[in-house]
Amino acid sequence: MPPILILDPGHGGIDPGGGSNSLFTEKAKNLQISLYQFNRFKELNIPVAITRTGDTTLTSDARAARVRDSGARYCISNHINAGGGRGSEVIYSIYAKATFPTLIQDELEAAGMPNRRIFTRTLPDNPRKDYYFMHRETGSVETVIIEYGFADNALDAEKLHRDWRPLAEGVVRAFCEYIGHPYKLPTPVAIPTPGGGTAVPEWKQEAIDWLFREGLLTNEDWRNQPDTPLPLWAEAVILKRLYEKLRASR
Ligand SMILES: [Zn+2]
Repeated sequence: MPPILILDPGHGGIDPGGGSNSLFTEKAKNLQISLYQFNRFKELNIPVAITRTGDTTLTSDARAARVRDSGARYCISNHINAGGGRGSEVIYSIYAKATFPTLIQDELEAAGMPNRRIFTRTLPDNPRKDYYFMHRETGSVETVIIEYGFADNALDAEKLHRDWRPLAEGVVRAFCEYIGHPYKLPTPVAIPTPGGGTAVPEWKQEAIDWLFREGLLTNEDWRNQPDTPLPLWAEAVILKRLYEKLRASR
C-alpha cells in the first residue's frame, strides 16, 4: 500500500543541523523523534514512509524528491530550533490551512512545550512562493515543518532531552485527529534483561521521576522500587500534596 504520510527527520550525515547543544545534535534528535513516530504510525495501521532511517546526508533536492515521489499526501518534517527563543513553531505552506498546525501545537502544549507561533513565510522577492524548500519543492504534498523547541534555551533543551517521547506522541495523536483515524495509546512493553529479570521500562521510570520532579514524592528510597506498593499513609501524603498544589495554582 502506498504511504499516506512521509516523515522527514531533518538534516543528517555531514549536516548536523543548527538545533544542537551539549545534550544532543539536531540530526540525531530529529531521527529519534521520527523513528519513534514511524513505528507508532505502523502500529496504528497508517501507511507511512520516511526520508532517512540512519545518519544519511540528503541534499535539499534529494530530500524533496523523496517526499514528492513517495506517493504520500502528507509530510511531517521534524526539526529542533535555535537562535534565541522558547517553545514550538509549526511552519506550513501559503497554499495550506492552519488546521493541522493548530492541532499539532495544541498537542505539544498539552505535552508541556509552550507554543511560540504557527506561521507561513514567502520568498522575499516572490510572495506567491514558499520560503522553505520543503513547502516549495514537494509538489502537492501537504508538508508541515515542526520545530519542537529551542536547543539553545535551557528549559526547552532539557525538555527535548528528557521528554521528547510525549512530544513525538502528541504529533501522532494530532495527525490521527486531522485525518480522522482512530487513535490508540502505545502499548507499554516490559524489557527483559540479560539476567532473566525485567528491567524497569522507561515509561514506569518516567512516571516515578515525575512524582519527584513535582515534589509529590520526596523520599529517594522509593525512586528505584517501581513495583513496590506504597503504604496507605504515603498515598495519602501524595494526594494531599497534589491537592494543595492544585488549590494553590488556582
Ligand atoms: Zn533543522
